[in-house]
Amino acid sequence: MSSVVPPTANYRGRLAPSPTGLLHLGHARTFWTARERARAAGGSLVLRNEDLDPARARAELAAAMIEDLRWFGFDWQEGPDVGGPFGPYVQSQRRAQYLAAFEQLRAAGAIYPCTCSRRDVQEAAGAPHEAPPGGAWVPDEPIYPGTCRPSLAKASEGRRSAPFLFLDTCALSLARQGVNWRFRVPDGTMLAFTDGRYGPQAATAGVHFGDFIVWRKDDAPAYQLACVVDDSAMRITEVVRGADLLLSTFRQLLLYAALGLTPPAFHHCPLLADMQGVRLAKRHDALSLRALRAQGRTPEELRKLF
Ligand SMILES: [Zn+2]
Repeated sequence: MSSVVPPTANYRGRLAPSPTGLLHLGHARTFWTARERARAAGGSLVLRNEDLDPARARAELAAAMIEDLRWFGFDWQEGPDVGGPFGPYVQSQRRAQYLAAFEQLRAAGAIYPCTCSRRDVQEAAGAPHEAPPGGAWVPDEPIYPGTCRPSLAKASEGRRSAPFLFLDTCALSLARQGVNWRFRVPDGTMLAFTDGRYGPQAATAGVHFGDFIVWRKDDAPAYQLACVVDDSAMRITEVVRGADLLLSTFRQLLLYAALGLTPPAFHHCPLLADMQGVRLAKRHDALSLRALRAQGRTPEELRKLF
């Protein structure tokens, strides 16, 4: 009889920065919450390099990211630099996993190709920055108007004629080429989850968010898909991240369900605002950990600002 506890029985958190700029104090604060929660639970922390944006991710920034995290006082038990049982911990090296999930969704009729440009969607959707009546959410992207969405009958026909097959990479890449693939959300369905910090959350599919992209026309998985595939494969039990991703949690819950995966718990953190009340972006270089360090600030003193 084995007494080994399966990894899912223990708290597993993660830090998932993108090497598209220098880490700033806002990232550090959210990551520090992830660290504190992992420590309090006696669990472990995974570092994942989210370098999927080919236009912006840079290797030297990935190296700087690890150095800055170490300087600030973070440690992790699994990651690109230390390895671990669920690697690779670099998203650009996990393409096979994303393709398998894409194919599973496609075979199930859950996604469809969309030829609309970003501008087409914006123009058809109208003003994107107003909360819908009775809704607490301001949509974080225009609601997709459904231009390319096949009828449900057509989608289920596609499902019957598309058994779950691993086509060779070449055929798959032809099928994906040049178009975005969108996930069909169940219009009118209210989705709910309980956030570890903000409590009960609810949103309605098709009202607060619409059909979203899971595979981009530049042939890269979209953030939503990669995040779900990785958090599941890496056995993450709680996702700690910025409150700007609260609405995306509903999209990700739909992906977990469509892929037959168990979602983790979620804990979103308030975003740090700078002195003008502007949310910190990576362009605020003066508040990058690197710049603060160069000014002689210490991690201990910076953590007091949290
Ligand atoms: Zn379209």
